[in-house]
Amino acid sequence: MKVCVIGNGGREHAIAWRLSISPSVEKVYAVPGSAAMKNCAELVGIDWSHTDHLIRFLKDNKVDLVVVGPEAPLVAGLADALHEAGIPVFGPSKAAAQLEGSKVFAKDLMKKYNIPTAAYGVFSNVDEAKQFIAKTGAPIVVKADGLAAGKGVVVAMTVEEANAAVDDMLSGNRFGEAGSTVVIEEFMEGEEASLLAFVDGKTVVPMIASQDHKRIFDGDKGPNTGGMGTYAPAPVLTDALRDEAMKTILEPMVAAMAKEGMPYVGCLYAGLMITNEGPKVVEFNARFGDPETQVVLPLLEGDLGQIMMACATGTLQSNMVKWKDSSAACVILASKGYPETSSKGDVILGELVQYDTSIIFHSGTKLEGDHYVTNGGRVLGVVGLGKDLRTALDRAYERVDHITFKGMQYRKDIGAKAFK
Ligand code: ATP
Repeated sequence: MKVCVIGNGGREHAIAWRLSISPSVEKVYAVPGSAAMKNCAELVGIDWSHTDHLIRFLKDNKVDLVVVGPEAPLVAGLADALHEAGIPVFGPSKAAAQLEGSKVFAKDLMKKYNIPTAAYGVFSNVDEAKQFIAKTGAPIVVKADGLAAGKGVVVAMTVEEANAAVDDMLSGNRFGEAGSTVVIEEFMEGEEASLLAFVDGKTVVPMIASQDHKRIFDGDKGPNTGGMGTYAPAPVLTDALRDEAMKTILEPMVAAMAKEGMPYVGCLYAGLMITNEGPKVVEFNARFGDPETQVVLPLLEGDLGQIMMACATGTLQSNMVKWKDSSAACVILASKGYPETSSKGDVILGELVQYDTSIIFHSGTKLEGDHYVTNGGRVLGVVGLGKDLRTALDRAYERVDHITFKGMQYRKDIGAKAFK
């Protein structure tokens, strides 16, 4: 079959690469893709928001399946438009993507269906928000309702800090419309893990558990980022905890979405806090995680094209999805100034080719002449593969040692928590 991947980041590079080695897939297109994705896909210079152009291209080229990578097109309703045009899509409808697009929507649905998550209140009024903070006390978490690229969350250690976040979001207009309502949540203590699942509207098949590293600096210090590295499998989510999360969180949420008349199709991402009371939801995302995808998909056995098509057509079966008995680790190389700013155009020196035991996915690069330059906050995802996590990490860091660009920053403690 022919598959078209929408997006141009590291996540989409990993998806396109994995599809390109799937027996059922004869051709992969990427809209718009990135220069580095040429090793696994044909790039198509269409803007996904020009839906008519996109649909004409897909029909002219007899594309069988579209895989939507990022959240923005999903929240904007791209899957609905493709669905209407009769093209199978791996990715939720606009209604179902609210699970990520609106924190209020997600929290209210979890409450309605008794899915474990932090207690919360929803506010548009500054005084009421501050009264709630005064009553609850710190630590406490303040979140902008809408999409804010991972930057709309303040984990406040003091009441003053929480009040300042409320001022910033509700009266400071920092996040525009996305911050005109805030969710204020109880602070959950524990270790985080990401559990992604393939979903076809009713059947839910879990992927291998992974752990993200959101803060910019070692030791989980500094501001939140899109993710500075990840590894899988993550031992914090034992088989027993994963089964519990499936029974108490993912399966009930998919059933709830169907019951609410917005069946969920695609990758459902549950960001979990492993608390003393068991796994609780930090957030849902309506797509693959970036960089979780870069470690999860290399460990997949089975045919990703077949699995995604089965999700899109309501025919998913658990025996389609199998996992290698090995580990993967990804170290993100970020540009100078990230996450506040990012520097572009710096030449990347080093070998970027793929080996059996290490893969380099491009998050933000551009080809200038015959060399790559930086083109965004997160630049490269360097993935090591091995029989165990130690080997995978060693292989990733060994590759990192041979890559450099001006102002390059990365964490040196990816995976450290797994050895605690
Ligand atoms: P992204 O989509 O980039 O992951 P987001 O903006 O949707 O981020 P969340 O995932 O909800 O934000 O929160 C970001 C981080 O803040 C979490 O990964 C977690 O570390 C912390 N956090 C969020 N909610 C809580 C909570 N209730 N208790 C403790 N920590 C929390």
